[in-house]
Amino acid sequence: MNFTNLRGEVRLQEPMSRHTSYQIGGPADAFVVPADRGDLLALMAEIRERNLRFLVLGGGTNLLVRDGGFRGVVVSLRNMAAISITREYRSVGGSYAVLSAEAGASLARLMNFSVEHELTGLEFAAGIPGTVGGALCMNAGTSRGEIGDVTDAVTLLTPSGDLVLRHHDEMGFGYRTANVPPGQVIVEAKLILRKGERERIKERISELMAGRKERQPWGLPNAGSVFKNPLDEAAGKLIEQAGLKGFAVGRAQISEKHGNFIVNLGGATAADVLKLMEVVKERVLEMHQVRLEPEIKIIGED
Ligand SMILES: Cc1cc2nc3c(=O)[nH]c(=O)nc-3n(C[C@H](O)[C@H](O)[C@H](O)COP(=O)(O)OP(=O)(O)OC[C@H]3O[C@@H](n4cnc5c(N)ncnc54)[C@H](O)[C@@H]3O)c2cc1C
Repeated sequence: MNFTNLRGEVRLQEPMSRHTSYQIGGPADAFVVPADRGDLLALMAEIRERNLRFLVLGGGTNLLVRDGGFRGVVVSLRNMAAISITREYRSVGGSYAVLSAEAGASLARLMNFSVEHELTGLEFAAGIPGTVGGALCMNAGTSRGEIGDVTDAVTLLTPSGDLVLRHHDEMGFGYRTANVPPGQVIVEAKLILRKGERERIKERISELMAGRKERQPWGLPNAGSVFKNPLDEAAGKLIEQAGLKGFAVGRAQISEKHGNFIVNLGGATAADVLKLMEVVKERVLEMHQVRLEPEIKIIGED
């Protein structure tokens, strides 16, 4: 598959296991990394004209790609990762900065940038991997806060090729969801953060990181929480109460440390993970009469 005038990189039959935190996933027909925003716009125009299927990839930290891979074009935004402060102002409650972050910037780098500039509001992101685009799409966060809370506006590329600005209220941020219809590409976001004290911000981040290390598995490939928490309940607790911690299908295992994490013990397939997810759903429904819904995005062919 060739792309006219593309300045970025193209790899054909690229294993998606190289691009997901699960380290699972069959090949994408084409894996394309546009060189910059102009290159992305030209690529998306060509994808539209040729009527190709596509998937926008962030860090691949919330993705399960099936073993047959993805028939179409995977578009990685990793070359679009600029972060800057565009404006500072004073208002009720203190001094504020407006940050502009491109979709391919990692959330960790954005958080470090905010520490460097003594800005508070992103501490909740401590330990959440992935990119700004993926975080916005998922409204990533924890009970301490979500990316939507600090997002003022998002620039999206629509299926018809227009760049549009969507303000916070139009983004429909909810629990692990946002209004990013299929076919739209998040290009950039404007976030508003408040001036704070660097040492307090760093302390908070360290506390949250320590808590994560205690509660979550480290060292084995995973994609974070597999299921959304049902109203007022922790999916991990329900799974643990169903006696499933440590339960495995093939090389995929419910983490011994956290019931809502599935870890790849090495060589797990997407089929292993999907089968394990079915077992979890059945057992939790049987035991708690609760229907679990996946938080991870499942894509591709068997
Ligand atoms: C160890 C670990 C801990 C985690 N902890 C948390 C946590 O505490 N809270 C939490 O919310 N999540 C957590 N996650 C899940 C994951 O990190 C987040 O959902 C993250 O925001 C996903 O970002 P990503 O860039 O990796 O997205 P990807 O996995 O690459 O993509 C996720 C979805 O977003 C879409 N997408 C990505 N970029 C764009 C774009 N620019 N435009 C349009 N669509 C796009 C993709 O097509 C896909 O549908 C954790 C994951 C791991 C591995």
